[in-house]
Amino acid sequence: MMTTAVKRIGIFGGTFDPVHLGHIASARELLTSVKFDTVYLMPCYRHPHDKHPGASAAQRLEMLELALANEKQLAVDSRELHRSGLSYTVDSLAELRSEQGDEAQLVFILGSDAFAGLDAWHRWQSLLELANLLVIERAGQIALNDIDKLTLQNLLSDSVEDFNQPAGQLMQLRLKPYDISSTAIRQALAAGKVSNAVGGIVVGDNALGDNSPANKNIKVNEYIPELVMDYIQANHLYGL
Ligand code: ATP
Repeated sequence: MMTTAVKRIGIFGGTFDPVHLGHIASARELLTSVKFDTVYLMPCYRHPHDKHPGASAAQRLEMLELALANEKQLAVDSRELHRSGLSYTVDSLAELRSEQGDEAQLVFILGSDAFAGLDAWHRWQSLLELANLLVIERAGQIALNDIDKLTLQNLLSDSVEDFNQPAGQLMQLRLKPYDISSTAIRQALAAGKVSNAVGGIVVGDNALGDNSPANKNIKVNEYIPELVMDYIQANHLYGL
């Protein structure tokens, strides 16, 4: 009798304002190390009064689509941008569960910084009823050992080596570190920018401010796919 392999689906949530190599390279690495069939990058809706004005929801989505155009197993899941009203991760995972069936292994992926604030998310404990969690130790951010919340530490102490259930398990993973964030990129673009010969943006020493952990010479275009950089320039995003 033929058996059908159980599908393993990753869902990488975030703001993606803009998407950068830390997201894409991490997602690519996860495809092989955790053997996902597909990893979806799922941009969240953002409140119009958010105090960090950046790209619009439509622009964040377009940048993600450009970034993933040639990726076979990475895709965008735009459901949170199309849902009216506030959208919560728990609602998205409930929808995905009913679409993918009870057997599928759903894995919600988040960096250590996001995990450290997980207990403030709407119905956060229900997330584990709907999916597994994969926590990535993120370079330059809080170390998982330093999270001092008991409920989160209890979850971490029950970590598994690999998933074998559709939901309810937590796994920790350290990937190749990319010490970059969308915030650092937005600040760098808005601050000292100089076009270089290939049309990228070279950022000077102090562009990120003295207190920034990412305060160093960065070439922003090394951290963003070329098509996304072109889009940012063409649409004058982030103060360009
Ligand atoms: P911002 O600086 O605007 O907060 P960000 O760079 O943290 O943005 P998000 O879109 O908020 O990016 O992140 C989405 C998810 O990707 C989060 O779970 C976050 O922890 C993870 N992530 C972001 N950057 C990296 C990175 N460089 N390496 C690994 N994970 C990352």
